[in-house]
Amino acid sequence: MAQMRALTMEAEGPARVKTLDDGDLPAGDVTVAVEWSTLNYKDGLILGRQRRMVPNYPHVPGIDFAGTVERSDDPRFAAGDRVVLTGWHVGETHWGGYATRARVKGDWLVPLPQGFSTRDAMALGTAGFTAMLAVLALEDHGLGEGEILVTGASGGVGSVAVSLLSALGHPVAAVSGRDGAADYLRDLGAARIIPRAELAEAPTRPLDTEEWAGCIDNVGGPMLARVLTQMRYRASVAAVGLAGGTDIPTTVMPFLLRGVNLLGIDSVLCPRDLRQRAWDRIAQDMPMDKVRSTVTEVGLADVPRLAESILTGGVRGRTVVNVN
Ligand code: NDP
Repeated sequence: MAQMRALTMEAEGPARVKTLDDGDLPAGDVTVAVEWSTLNYKDGLILGRQRRMVPNYPHVPGIDFAGTVERSDDPRFAAGDRVVLTGWHVGETHWGGYATRARVKGDWLVPLPQGFSTRDAMALGTAGFTAMLAVLALEDHGLGEGEILVTGASGGVGSVAVSLLSALGHPVAAVSGRDGAADYLRDLGAARIIPRAELAEAPTRPLDTEEWAGCIDNVGGPMLARVLTQMRYRASVAAVGLAGGTDIPTTVMPFLLRGVNLLGIDSVLCPRDLRQRAWDRIAQDMPMDKVRSTVTEVGLADVPRLAESILTGGVRGRTVVNVN
């Protein structure tokens, strides 16, 4: 039986790179030779303090991967097709991408856009895909002229969001609490840097001066509540993340008096047609040179250390994992 390398977790103890048999792979109709995976905040949770998200052990984490189809019982895919997978609870309830091989449902795979490399797909990963979903949601609700705010800007979703919005011609205000992030964010296209501390406290009044024509929020908590009070009339906030907390200490006033929209973004169970639309727009509009400039390349054995670090805001930009 063929063998594969995988980062494996038991219910307790550190994750380790092990050699497994192909026969250990879970059920699925498409087997993929994985080339690249990546590191997201959720990978940090799964490998760290949220091990209960994983129902069964041993487990292979890694919520994203890109590679080449080896074998398929799904007529939509054939050996040699290049594919990307994000979401669907892969790496969480199903073995994931920190391995040289994965077996999944064909329904979960998206064919890579023509000319798009598997490494670039993982330079984006769930973070980049989610940034595109957030931009699509803002556009679908009418994105007016003016500054777009990105919170948690030097993280994975934030870095891609800043690059993408600025490539689309929007002036971007980037919120960051990281020392030395200003040059990095300006290089990605941010027109203005806002220190995290300026927006960190919950609002003291229901409405503030109107500032933002749109917002991609990776932080949640008091910062999201604060941002809601500063949105322009009928502007939208795409709610992506919870890096700063899950409670939103807000009032209904921004919604009732300014027609502000709070748009939920879910990348995990995102329907296939929207997924395809997002990858097509990525192929068309994503400034990959900028995204590549944020990438750090690591191996499987580096993942546990970085997974710890991403939970405390210690990982800048995007990380790609060479699984081979
Ligand atoms: P990262 O850790 O790379 O980025 C999060 C950023 O948030 C950090 O880099 C930091 O930016 C900022 N931040 C961290 N802690 C705090 C804090 N306490 N208060 C304010 N800002 C903080 O994670 P990702 O970019 O991968 O993900 C961002 C968020 O989006 C996460 O919460 C993640 O769970 C969520 N997410 C949701 C998805 C969905 O489908 N809805 C999909 C993907 C991610 P800086 O240093 O610049 O201040």
